Amino acid sequence: MESSDYEAVLDDVEKLVRPVVGSGETASYIPALAAVDTSRFGMAVADTEGRVHGIGDWQEPFSVQSISKIYTLALVLAQDGEEIWRRVGREPSGNPFNSLVQLEYEDGIPRNPFINAGSLVVTDRLLTLTGDAYGSLRDFLRAESGDDRLGHSPVVAASEAEHGDRNAALAHFMASYGNLDNPVQEVLDHYFAQCAMEMSCRDLALATGFLARHGVRADGSRLLPVRAAKQINAVMLTCGAYDAAGEFAYRVGLPGKSGVGGGIVAVVPGKCTVCVWSPGIDRQGNSVAGVAALDAFTTLTGWSVF
Ligand code: GLU
Repeated sequence: MESSDYEAVLDDVEKLVRPVVGSGETASYIPALAAVDTSRFGMAVADTEGRVHGIGDWQEPFSVQSISKIYTLALVLAQDGEEIWRRVGREPSGNPFNSLVQLEYEDGIPRNPFINAGSLVVTDRLLTLTGDAYGSLRDFLRAESGDDRLGHSPVVAASEAEHGDRNAALAHFMASYGNLDNPVQEVLDHYFAQCAMEMSCRDLALATGFLARHGVRADGSRLLPVRAAKQINAVMLTCGAYDAAGEFAYRVGLPGKSGVGGGIVAVVPGKCTVCVWSPGIDRQGNSVAGVAALDAFTTLTGWSVF
């Protein structure tokens, strides 16, 4: 598509979605996120060459939350091959993202890397591999987005830690099965910082480009084998939208990952990445306007994996 075509599509998407911007609630269980204005809406599309088009609040940083789980998984797969799959499954959980119930039946092995329990295991592995899980994530995101100032919000991280009993319980429970190698508190600190990364739709669309380029980074070097990029996209499609992944696949038809900050990243393999942000989320944790915008985007362009 030409630049003007991207802009026309984004204009049409925004018009279609405006009526639902403001629907949903912010994530009240993280008080620092509860105050964000639900009338915000932004969307960016980055093609595989790194050209970005955006609309609305597309350059405004927001809390990436669970979207960070894509990149920690990619960094672990890049350094450690398939090892991580001995400690984390890759099936949809069908339970809320912070649920404890399944862990007991499956010996402390979380269902997939995109629920909280699974991401804690991935962060634990990244910590072992690099000595600084959060730092390696931040450096990767800075490099891919081309923005050296990216970082996390200490206020949001502290708010998560203060209200983090559920994540602490998940981590201790998995540690009791021997599925964490590092001290629980250290894993939690890195996990909260990773979730508290602040990035815009522009940054996230660029930083996810390696998945549209089948594993190749922004500088042309290879991060992942083609097969591993395919695998991450597959797990995003089946597990990336909490316990509404089926509905997301039905409406959007793309690999995607959402966060309770109201952001969603989606990948059109071989073509582009799309990031949308609007802070009002539904009961499952997905941005209401975000899902509607991606639904409109794939409908207008015909770009879905189906
Ligand atoms: N930091 C959030 C938590 O651990 C992430 C949740 C999310 O975005 O899914 O609950």
